[in-house]
Amino acid sequence: MKKATSLLLSLAFSTTTLQAQTKKPVSTEQARMNTFVSQLMAKMSVDEKIGQLNLVTGGEATTGTAVSTDVESKIANGQIGGIFSLTTPARIRKAQEIAINKSRLKIPLIFGQDVIHGYKTTFPIPLALAASWDLALIERTARVAAIEASADGLNWTFSPMVDISRDARWGRVAESSGEDTYLGSQIAKVMVKGYQGDDLKKYNTIMACVKHFALYGAAEAGRDYNTTDMSLDRMYNDYLPPYKAAIDAGAGSIMASFNDINGVPATANKWLLNDLLRKQWGFKGFVVSDYTGVSELIEHGLGDLQNVSGLSLKAGTDMDMVSEGYLKTLKKSLQEGKVTIAEINNACRLILEAKYKLGLFEDPYRYCNEDRAKTEILTPANLQFARQAAAQTFVLLKNENKTLPLKKAGTIAVIGPLANTKSNMPGTWSVNADLASTPSLLEGLKAVAGNKVNILHSFGSNLTGDATLQQHSTMFGRDIPRDNRPEEEIIKDAINTAQKADVVVAALGEGSEMSGESSSRTNIEIPDVQKRLLAALLKTGKPVVLVLFTGRPLAIKWESEQVPAILNVWFGGSQAAYAIADVLFGDANPSGKLAITFPQNVGQVPIYYSHKNTGRPLAPGGWFTKFRSNYLDVSNDPLYPFGFGLSYTTFSYSDIKLSAAGFKPGQSITASITVTNTGSTEGKEVVQLYTRDMVGTSTRPVKELKAFQKISLKPGESRQVIFTLRENDLKFYNQDLKYVTEPGDFKVFIGPNSRDVKESQFKLLSK
Ligand code: BGC
Repeated sequence: MKKATSLLLSLAFSTTTLQAQTKKPVSTEQARMNTFVSQLMAKMSVDEKIGQLNLVTGGEATTGTAVSTDVESKIANGQIGGIFSLTTPARIRKAQEIAINKSRLKIPLIFGQDVIHGYKTTFPIPLALAASWDLALIERTARVAAIEASADGLNWTFSPMVDISRDARWGRVAESSGEDTYLGSQIAKVMVKGYQGDDLKKYNTIMACVKHFALYGAAEAGRDYNTTDMSLDRMYNDYLPPYKAAIDAGAGSIMASFNDINGVPATANKWLLNDLLRKQWGFKGFVVSDYTGVSELIEHGLGDLQNVSGLSLKAGTDMDMVSEGYLKTLKKSLQEGKVTIAEINNACRLILEAKYKLGLFEDPYRYCNEDRAKTEILTPANLQFARQAAAQTFVLLKNENKTLPLKKAGTIAVIGPLANTKSNMPGTWSVNADLASTPSLLEGLKAVAGNKVNILHSFGSNLTGDATLQQHSTMFGRDIPRDNRPEEEIIKDAINTAQKADVVVAALGEGSEMSGESSSRTNIEIPDVQKRLLAALLKTGKPVVLVLFTGRPLAIKWESEQVPAILNVWFGGSQAAYAIADVLFGDANPSGKLAITFPQNVGQVPIYYSHKNTGRPLAPGGWFTKFRSNYLDVSNDPLYPFGFGLSYTTFSYSDIKLSAAGFKPGQSITASITVTNTGSTEGKEVVQLYTRDMVGTSTRPVKELKAFQKISLKPGESRQVIFTLRENDLKFYNQDLKYVTEPGDFKVFIGPNSRDVKESQFKLLSK
């Protein structure tokens, strides 16, 4: 540790700085960093520079077939810049000690991990967090995750994932903030802030890595890793803004995506990583490939390992995750003139700068504090927060006859394959979750119900009828036991149990690994075997509450028609069971709103609210009309629209009041509405504002979310919600990719979701 400190000090105050080389004034800190890195690089051999570009896995969680080998000797030889999937201060210290004590230049390693929705204290999956529409809450989840991860030795997370996701078949919608550009961008910003805080050098902040750059969410047919082909109009207006928002918020790194983009995979896409990201957007951090993203370019058809490594470096991928293509081939490419030393230097500099910004040169063991690991992880306060956070993410999809909340009295039958599983609760991409200490729904209900409630349980059905599909859907220890008796026998037991109860809670849906990476589905319904159970439960005549576990929008048309109450709980993290119980019993009032549209069936996918109108739109409320844009067999309507979610109370909306009939660029207008709690329970409502640009030089979406406010109202209470609209809110990228407004007519809509809105209009006037 001492040696590294003195290395820093000896270099930091040198008189040679890069300040003179750049046009903008450089801060003192930046100048120090430039000097430090330049002087360090002056001592580095080509091999050592290439070594910095190599990211290996510690193997705790792997997402590909390749794993890293000979890690210790490579660290000692200066052939590794960072490690991911290695945790705990002891293990990380051990690896860092090799770098500091054995490698020639004692350059510290960076330690990453997929800290996606919490660390050991696990929060709801990102798609669920987005449904909270509570930016402060989401930021706090990232902050807590950073505190716990840094207490366990980490200083870099592969999060936030900001891919706009409109295809329910794609398993990774679970990791996203859903379909909307504006909501996604707001969440991207606060996540970066939560992880990085105001100073990356602090012992409890970690560097964010925005992923997957870019357009990964638009993979064809929702099949993971598949090709993306997209117009610039859609790219600039819909898909790119969340990445840009995260970068503008200061994200230190970005991950290139696996997919092909208009003919060139992201990892080797110079236009994407250099022209757009660096030149147009001014990104100053480093780019890491995804897991074997570099060597996968061979399969994409771009050449052999040497070729694809050179292409990736030249395109702007600075760090090679797991492929070791850089390590094995860049020197040869340099000797053969296929890459330049400037390109290697540039990548190396960016990685060293990241380490500098994290304070690793001052103290390589900054994040290796055993005491913190003992006292700051899974604390009662963090767990309490996880419980409150989860309750904010559940979406009440239906509640006929006030079936919910349940009384804390009588007998409740909890039935279904997801009722009594611990490992299934945290959700996909929760590699650090403590599965054994996660309560199952049954345990949570028992704990919250108190002793006046008699809780019965029956398994009810397997997760899927097909054992192989179940095996593929319960990987990474997310087991759900199988009952190998005939289906009728299992259901019979469940019916017997249901008949003894006043109400049935059916815990059904997806297993947690039915969404997430490499978990695409072409059938997005609840598995048949569970549906048959549900039908049998409904037949008993008992009120049934469907507690729906899912990592994606499910096609639940039949369920929505037949079941009186549906609470969509996604995967709610380590404290999900208590939070679900809190909501079911009415200790917490649900306020989540969908961040992604639920389709009627898979054939409607991709379905999203901000679509274009077409030249032959269907009349509102219509179904089939010949020669209109629609389907023969199903209406264009979603099952549940974007922004939708009920509460135990009800809200009414007044008409919209505008402060003026129009405004000029530079001015603003306010749109206000009065919202009243018309029910008898205190509740939260997400008031959403959308606009439509009526005439433009490009076609514009029928609705675009531009603002929202989450408010809390007591029974009978009214509140005026005021939104201010400025020119910037009406801008879009035109056909020349200029970010402009065009004067003319706009509609403004305000409501509780994207469908049920009040409407008004205004003009944007010329200057
Ligand atoms: C995923 C990334 C992840 C990486 C490292 C990849 O397979 O696409 O999201 O960060 O693995 O675990």
